[in-house]
Amino acid sequence: MHTLRIIGGGLSGCEAALQFASRGFNVDLYEMRKGEGKTPAHKTSNLAELICSNSFKGTQLTSAHGLLKNELKMLGSFLLQAAEKTRVPAGESLTVDREIFSEEIERLMAGSKKITLYPKECADLNSDVPTLVAAGPLCSEALAEQIKKITGEEFLHFFDAVAPVIESDSIDHSLAYAMNRHEKGDSADFINCPLDKETYLEFVKRLQEADSVEEKPFEKGELFEGCLPIEEMARRGIDTLRFGPMRPIGLGKHYAVIQLRTENAQKTLYNMVGFQTRLKWNSQKEIFRLVPALKNAEFARLGCMHRNTFIESPKLLDNTLKLNSNKIWFAGQITGAEGYTEAIATGWYAAWNMANYMQGREIELLPHGTCIRALVEAITAPNEHFQPMNFNFGLLPRPENLRKSMKKDFLTQQSKKNLSIFLQCCQKN
Ligand SMILES: Cc1cc2nc3c(=O)[nH]c(=O)nc-3n(C[C@H](O)[C@H](O)[C@H](O)COP(=O)(O)OP(=O)(O)OC[C@H]3O[C@@H](n4cnc5c(N)ncnc54)[C@H](O)[C@@H]3O)c2cc1C
Repeated sequence: MHTLRIIGGGLSGCEAALQFASRGFNVDLYEMRKGEGKTPAHKTSNLAELICSNSFKGTQLTSAHGLLKNELKMLGSFLLQAAEKTRVPAGESLTVDREIFSEEIERLMAGSKKITLYPKECADLNSDVPTLVAAGPLCSEALAEQIKKITGEEFLHFFDAVAPVIESDSIDHSLAYAMNRHEKGDSADFINCPLDKETYLEFVKRLQEADSVEEKPFEKGELFEGCLPIEEMARRGIDTLRFGPMRPIGLGKHYAVIQLRTENAQKTLYNMVGFQTRLKWNSQKEIFRLVPALKNAEFARLGCMHRNTFIESPKLLDNTLKLNSNKIWFAGQITGAEGYTEAIATGWYAAWNMANYMQGREIELLPHGTCIRALVEAITAPNEHFQPMNFNFGLLPRPENLRKSMKKDFLTQQSKKNLSIFLQCCQKN
């Protein structure tokens, strides 16, 4: 049986290792924190360390993360089982004792005769051994250098600058209008949310006064002029935003305008153009809802700015998470799929596809309509403004005229049905 190599014993790397082993592959797993390596955020040498919160979020099937976890359960995710086994009481969220969770993963890995753990850094991407890069948001410098060499320097980023993303059906379209600046282009792709003078002044004042998330010590001094947080621009002067991302020029006679750009082909999600921010999440919701067209906005994700190593997946990966024309796959946060559960999900997904590829089987992709496939589409579909994305309901396909009240129920049924059919087909083959 083939030997495969995984770089990184975090959430995505451990899920992938256990999946490969269960399919009979030998796995060489490299984890630098087991040896001399360190990252600026991990505190232990444990496999699958949860670096911040100890929660995998909600479990209800009508919540995005609940549905994503349900798919992982149906697909036999080892890390999800370990999380359920090491759960601590926390209402409806799946929250774990992080030490016992990691111990459980270590036990599973040690119990597998197929997995060999190498307690050291690996930065070799020229090996003939098929490799899964699961080195996370704090990937080692030497490996980052090698990734740059094979992908091109411009396709590896060390910092994210995420603007809030809004569900389209929560925008008050009667108070907004579709138009491109100076009416350029064939179709009106942007949604514009105008503000009158009074609303604008209040909006800027609230931005100036709002609290930001504190930077981590290793993130200090990372801001650069071309990509300032919106609150920092507001603090530079009352009109800075009106001459910056909220400029109305070419958009009709308005005092200020926020432009929304579509985030996905189905136009279920829109992001606030130029609105990268470090504001605390409650402040973001309160302040952005001052904009008349956004008064009922539901945020699929809120803005953030982090130290975060990620590749430009839309330009580099195919929809199996394989690097184009190469025997290297990627999984976890380094692909731009953001979050603990998303890391496990992409670890499962890359392992599934990589194992099929190695066995010469026809690639059977997870079906459309499932959360995991939708997440992969979100990070691999063409996107000129790519930034990391967490899983949210806005990513799932649905009929165009689906009533808002039916949305969650429809998406839940779609995921369960499509995944069940997929699993039945897999059993037959
Ligand atoms: C500071 C911070 C806080 C976060 N907090 C949360 C949170 O609370 N909730 C949430 O959902 N998401 C959070 N995330 C986002 C993300 O979900 C987690 O980072 C998650 O752990 C990603 O899983 P992963 O498998 O991609 O990477 P990781 O879990 O980080 O695993 C990658 C592993 O690769 C190892 N490694 C790196 N380079 C090499 C190399 N060259 N050789 C060998 N080993 C290597 C690292 O030591 C690490 O163990 C946070 C991210 C950061 C940076």
